[in-house]
Amino acid sequence: MHTRAATKLRPVTQRKKLGGDSRAIEIICNRRYSVNMFPHIKCTEKDCLYFSLNGNDKCLKHISDRDAYIKTATLELQQEEIIRNCNLSTIELNSIELKDKMIIVANFSNSIFTNIDFTGSNILFSLFEYSTFTNCKFNNTAIKYTNFAGSAFINCSFIDSNIVNSNFNGINAVDSSFNESDLYYSTFTSSELKRVTFIECNLKKTDFYNSNRENVSFKYSNYEEALFSRDW
Ligand SMILES: [Zn+2]
Repeated sequence: MHTRAATKLRPVTQRKKLGGDSRAIEIICNRRYSVNMFPHIKCTEKDCLYFSLNGNDKCLKHISDRDAYIKTATLELQQEEIIRNCNLSTIELNSIELKDKMIIVANFSNSIFTNIDFTGSNILFSLFEYSTFTNCKFNNTAIKYTNFAGSAFINCSFIDSNIVNSNFNGINAVDSSFNESDLYYSTFTSSELKRVTFIECNLKKTDFYNSNRENVSFKYSNYEEALFSRDW
């Protein structure tokens, strides 16, 4: 089982040298900002509430060449070791490896992830809410202050990971595993969990208030230190 001391981030190795057109990389990774934050500029499409893409006045949903943009972004996500300050809400990614990445302040809300392998990645202050994950791996990851609220997980694994202060409220997870992970101060309130395992986990301050659990195992975990009810 992980201890609290084990939650520090894995070191980031030097960025890979990239070939090709460096301007294309700026499509997704905004390096103009010294702080980590993607620009909060709304899409100009009428009544659209999504943020615009970096360097564009439309969001990914309303950009005219959506398929081409996703194709370029997919390549860049695989090439880049550090993915930060990017807004890729509504992206659809299929069968790629995003292993050993540093993902910081990335917005992937309302997206579809199928057969994506995030093994070994550090994920910080990022948004994955209202997304669908099918056959995705987040094993050996360090995830902090990241939001997966309202997302669906089908046959996904978060094994042997440090997942602290992260938000899984209202998720719908089936046939998934969080085994051997530290879930300190992460929240699963109002979640629907079916055939989900939390075996040998640190569940101190993990919040399962109002969750619906069917065939959920907490074997060898300190679930008595988790929160299942409210005093108020
Ligand atoms: Zn839009």
